[in-house]
Amino acid sequence: MLTNYHTHCCRCGHAGGSVEDYVVAAMDNGFDKIGMSDHVPYPDFNYGARMNYEEKDVYLDEIIAAREKYKDKIQIFSGFEAEYLPQYNSYYEELLKDDRCDYLILGVHFFEKDDGILQYTYDIYDSSLYIKYAERAVEAMKTGYFKYLCHPDLIGVGDFDINDDYKRAFDILIDGAVKYGFILEYNANGLRRGINRLGNSERYPYPIGEFWNMIKDTDIKVIAGSDCHNPKLLYDEYMKKSLEFLDKAGFNRILDI
Ligand SMILES: [Zn+2]
Ligand SMILES: [Zn+2]
Repeated sequence: MLTNYHTHCCRCGHAGGSVEDYVVAAMDNGFDKIGMSDHVPYPDFNYGARMNYEEKDVYLDEIIAAREKYKDKIQIFSGFEAEYLPQYNSYYEELLKDDRCDYLILGVHFFEKDDGILQYTYDIYDSSLYIKYAERAVEAMKTGYFKYLCHPDLIGVGDFDINDDYKRAFDILIDGAVKYGFILEYNANGLRRGINRLGNSERYPYPIGEFWNMIKDTDIKVIAGSDCHNPKLLYDEYMKKSLEFLDKAGFNRILDI
């Protein structure tokens, strides 16, 4: 059985393909279920790389229309990939109360530092902030708003070797996932980024081998996420490689969220 709950569409501005294009790609590739999870818009500010708030309803309606059109062929779920900022708690709740929105998945593309300043995860130049990233992710796990953590090791984009700050962050994330029974995602899009020189090592930005070795020894539920930004990539070599890696190594891989 094939499923994917981490799927973008052209509304975010850095992806190609409409909702329907992804649904068709899913059917063509023999998927049983597909969940759309484009980057969530926030009501009062556009944090970048996402649709405008005004498009939210159209996006949700598009998914509902596709669900109706293809109801005999594939199961379609609607959702968003969202960051976690506590000031939006009522907004997350409002989204989840909307009949058209089935789920939220957590992607910590930015988070709040102790001084209240927003930190983008891609722009971290002090690796001690990875610990804060992990703490904020665990705070989000506690809320119950999110079904799983996308690319938990997104901090791997930093230009560092896998140092003690990374390892501390991994411990916090893993302890959180165990404590809250939270699902972690093995993200195929990190593999698509290819091997880069980061710090003094040649490695994928994410998934990070050290992190997944630690997860292997737990019974944390894991899921493969295509995180495709192009319908052609939904079930590409990197998604297949992700599934194969998780299954060969005996992870507790799940299909539904
Ligand atoms: Zn994206
Ligand atoms: Zn994503």
